[in-house]
Amino acid sequence: MKQTNFHTHTSRCHHAFGNDEEFVRTAIQNDFEVLGFSDHACWKYDSDFVAHMHMKLDEFDDYKDSVLYLKDRYKKQIEIRFGLEAEYFPKYMDWLLDFCIENEIDYLIFGNHYYSTDEDHIYLGGAKGKYIKGYFDTCVEGMKTGMYAYLAHPELILRSTGGVITPEIEEGFHRICKTSQDYNVPLEFNVLGMQHNLRI
Ligand SMILES: [Zn+2]
Ligand SMILES: [Zn+2]
Repeated sequence: MKQTNFHTHTSRCHHAFGNDEEFVRTAIQNDFEVLGFSDHACWKYDSDFVAHMHMKLDEFDDYKDSVLYLKDRYKKQIEIRFGLEAEYFPKYMDWLLDFCIENEIDYLIFGNHYYSTDEDHIYLGGAKGKYIKGYFDTCVEGMKTGMYAYLAHPELILRSTGGVITPEIEEGFHRICKTSQDYNVPLEFNVLGMQHNLRI
């Protein structure tokens, strides 16, 4: 069976381990045909905010050099793609689009972790009250931009309720599924998310 993986972080996001080449070698050993690197995108903030789970702007060149080097070095054994996992931060989307074009990013995956911008510190994996609806609203809005190849870990919101699917959350998932179908944006089946929910 053709194996692919498009959701791969590197140590630059501060929550992944190992060096970039080890990921490639492991993918080759396990017969993967395509390995997409998609570390958390850097942002150019209006404020002096420093993100703790994204690479910093000045770390991007090293990421790019590394992925493009590996893409070339292992091109006979595996297809490597150069991507990013990016949020939907409405006020910075023009910047992101320009940045992706300028750097010839192969693809973006949509990881909706923070509401509005992470400068506001509203983590959607712990969203309460109006931000539960806000999670689904922003998933749908982001998917409609056409910028993302797929929606990563749609189940992130379940961390807010300890895995319980309330009527509000069920309705939200229906909206995500409908948008996925209408706009042809696939949904990721995230094994880490599944493990997290099973532990609860
Ligand atoms: Zn991720
Ligand atoms: Zn993510």
